[in-house]
Amino acid sequence: MSDPFVEVITESDLQRRVSQLGAEIADDYQTTVPVVVGVLKGSIPFLADLVRAIDSTLQVDFLSLTRFGEEGRVSIAMDVSVPLRGRDVIIVEDIVDTGLTLTALHRMLMLREPNSLQTVTLLDKAPRRIVDIDLAYRGFEIGDEFLLGYGLDWGGHYRNLRSLWAVMDLGAFADDPHRFTEVVHPSAGGAFLRR
Ligand code: 5GP
Repeated sequence: MSDPFVEVITESDLQRRVSQLGAEIADDYQTTVPVVVGVLKGSIPFLADLVRAIDSTLQVDFLSLTRFGEEGRVSIAMDVSVPLRGRDVIIVEDIVDTGLTLTALHRMLMLREPNSLQTVTLLDKAPRRIVDIDLAYRGFEIGDEFLLGYGLDWGGHYRNLRSLWAVMDLGAFADDPHRFTEVVHPSAGGAFLRR
């Protein structure tokens, strides 16, 4: 039987790629102080590593979104703490899937008249894209598998994993998430908060 969980991007591969992205961004924003805006909560590990790989002056901020239904309608639940007018803004996403969330966020932030608005995403699930969007920086292009770790969650769990894992059978996983907990936290007693 094939493995139900596969480590698809290791910690060292993540760190290597994030360092490259940071160097690229530092190069592109030499003459300005960008606002790096993390979309909570999935972007946290990526953003924390990314900003430390950008060897130039920047500001860090966060926002969080509420999603409604399947059509990609979103509203800002928690807003950034600085005005974005005239600023060079970099949105930090963990993953872009259909692209609906990012499209809606982009539209909302453009109303604030930033000088520029770009996106860096760690993961680009390009085969699932519904709307065309411009990603200035992306870490890895991936397929259709469901991933966990390094910010990506299931019911709030597993964001703290240092690497990225693919769940091969989502149905079986949802029935018994304990099996994954035992794989990734073998010495932790398998504690899991039931939903
Ligand atoms: P979309 O681009 O479809 O509007 O939505 C992106 C959101 O879908 C992400 O922020 C994330 O919450 C969720 N998502 C998409 N693919 C995955 C995945 O493979 N794993 C996890 N944990 N969440 C995903």
